[in-house]
Amino acid sequence: MTHSAAVDLHAHSNCSDGSLSPAELVQHAAAAGVAMLALTDHDTVAGLEEAQNAGGRAGVRIVPGVEVSASWRSQAIHVLGLWIDPASARLRSALGSQAERRRVRMRKICAALSDLGLPGAALLAAVEANPGLPTRSHLAAALVEGGHVGRTEHAFRKYLGAGRAAHFAAEWPALAEVVAWIRDAGGIASLAHPARYALSAGGRRQLLADFVAAGGGALEVVTGGNGAQHCEANAMLAMQFGLLGSVGSDFHDPRLTWNPLGRLAKLPDCVVPVWRSHA
Ligand code: AMP
Ligand code: MN
Ligand code: MN
Ligand code: MN
Repeated sequence: MTHSAAVDLHAHSNCSDGSLSPAELVQHAAAAGVAMLALTDHDTVAGLEEAQNAGGRAGVRIVPGVEVSASWRSQAIHVLGLWIDPASARLRSALGSQAERRRVRMRKICAALSDLGLPGAALLAAVEANPGLPTRSHLAAALVEGGHVGRTEHAFRKYLGAGRAAHFAAEWPALAEVVAWIRDAGGIASLAHPARYALSAGGRRQLLADFVAAGGGALEVVTGGNGAQHCEANAMLAMQFGLLGSVGSDFHDPRLTWNPLGRLAKLPDCVVPVWRSHA
């Protein structure tokens, strides 16, 4: 398996903010020609068993994964754990704390929305009716559903995004701590969508240096919706920092067309694929 079009190491199910169940996601991946798929829900491994079972039936190799929210210099950073052991006691306990942080933050956000004259209690109930861990994506969908904003992006721009009226910086654990959980669970830590953080070029390099020092092993060089320039810049960073290269769409929903499952650019040849030792 050398062509990254057949590999997608970043996708969400309805155990977090994806729209498909883990089994539906795997079927969708099989139909899209994906041979190796990582399920990487936000801060939960709840969907992995269902995905593994569906992968066995559909002929898709499932990489057990997770996308953990971390903080670095007061910014939220997403770290993918790939090939983790979901039974790891330390990881399970850490993810339990992450879930609680998410629930606490969601209550604060909804209280702030109430202060702004919106029906915070009803919005919270709508979020909690979802099967997955609460995320701002669920709340954005509830704000659209209730007719309070026209589209989910507007929910982020008006209320939920950094610096907006109902934004709460979640107190995510430090980057190094999150990397340690992933390694402790036998996984490899891959820094997700490196171009998506609000950082200068120097800041991004410092983030990578700290990530490597903490034991990070890979960089998501090819990410959904990113252009060729980002991909090349990420490949250079991976080489400079001695990181393996990962590819992932960050798929959430088949109705969102900017990041379809398994339709990714090829990982540049100068970068060693993170899946090489697992192919
Ligand atoms: P959370 O992890 O609860 O902070 O929610 C973050 C999730 O919201 C991300 O994983 C994205 O799926 C989604 N998201 C973040 N920013 C936006 C945006 N501007 N428009 C739409 N979805 C977004
Ligand atoms: Mn998401
Ligand atoms: Mn992310
Ligand atoms: Mn993601």
